[in-house]
Amino acid sequence: MRQQLFDVDVEGLIRQIHPKYRAVWEGLAPEDQRALALYFLPHRSAKDVLEPKRPRVIKWYCPFAAQCDFPSGHRYCINVFTGCAHHCEYCYAQAYEPDEAAPKSNFERLLLKDLDDLERWDVPPAPVHLSNSTDPFQPLEATAGHTRLALTEILRHRYRFTTVTILTKNPLLPVRRGYLDLFQALGTLPEDHPRHAEFAARAQPGFVIEVSLAFWREDARQHYDPGAPPLDERIEGLRALHAHGIPLVLRIDPLFPRSPLPTRPPASLADFDLPEAQTLDDLERLAALAKDLHARHVVYSPVKIVQPRGGQLSPTMQALRRVYEACARPAKPVFRGGSWRLPDAIARAHIIQPFLDICRRYDMPAKYCKHNLIETP
Ligand code: SF4
Repeated sequence: MRQQLFDVDVEGLIRQIHPKYRAVWEGLAPEDQRALALYFLPHRSAKDVLEPKRPRVIKWYCPFAAQCDFPSGHRYCINVFTGCAHHCEYCYAQAYEPDEAAPKSNFERLLLKDLDDLERWDVPPAPVHLSNSTDPFQPLEATAGHTRLALTEILRHRYRFTTVTILTKNPLLPVRRGYLDLFQALGTLPEDHPRHAEFAARAQPGFVIEVSLAFWREDARQHYDPGAPPLDERIEGLRALHAHGIPLVLRIDPLFPRSPLPTRPPASLADFDLPEAQTLDDLERLAALAKDLHARHVVYSPVKIVQPRGGQLSPTMQALRRVYEACARPAKPVFRGGSWRLPDAIARAHIIQPFLDICRRYDMPAKYCKHNLIETP
């Protein structure tokens, strides 16, 4: 039952939505437009233009991009912690997250408030993602338990969500600490859910776990993912999840340049004091693993060199930037969205296409990072 808020001019809120988000409201039924406005938009802002910043924990999926560039639509992200203990060299969250991982204060109280708001305004169901900027199963979860709490509450309010997607580099933690029942319970939409019939007809799971595994050799992992779990632990976790019927996506992401580099004259990563991150043989083995695990698809994107918030690039990332400069010559790497990238044509020819050829040989669908998110119902 929708509750009214008689002292809020909801139509006025809708008129004030920033144009970059407006497309999400267009095409919705009027009552759903009102529900989204009440949930996402500040009710008493003095600003002329409003952004969807009202939720405390269950937030607008992507606050950075305009819908015309990244049509994420109505979906949520819960960043369960701030910062991430894994300290991956290439992590884009370095641009805005603190260095040290920590639980959020008042997480439970704020989560419950957001859930109450979803209920009282009868907000239509949407996908929820954990987490964009932190690993929900980093070691902190073993003591804080915020991911377990969030998933338990999502299950209690299952009607308000469609697909629940978890992204982690640490799949063994939930396996060893008894999260599998929770994962399985989240996998099916209740019969009175408005999307139940659609999900059942498409055999669309209501819960998916995406595991990041960009490397096949432990020495490469230690260099580029220094704080993340070892590869054998990740593979053990993946196999246990698969054995329990949990739908999986393998993120072979990011993709790195490999030797010989497309430079003139030809050079290798060793010339830049970098170890080989992913040989073609590594990628082949990762694709074979994805096939073996019946992964729904794999996710990829070329590695970005992220400018950390208020800091220097690490020696590894400085070296990788020199690789990008050499590969791009006579052009330059492209600086966009806070990170350096290879020019698209070079990234496609040298990094992406050989990977896609391997995936095709393994009959493994491959989705560019973010497209997988947009396509999650
Ligand atoms: S696990 Fe994910 S969020 Fe954590 S540092 Fe690595 S890439 Fe960033």
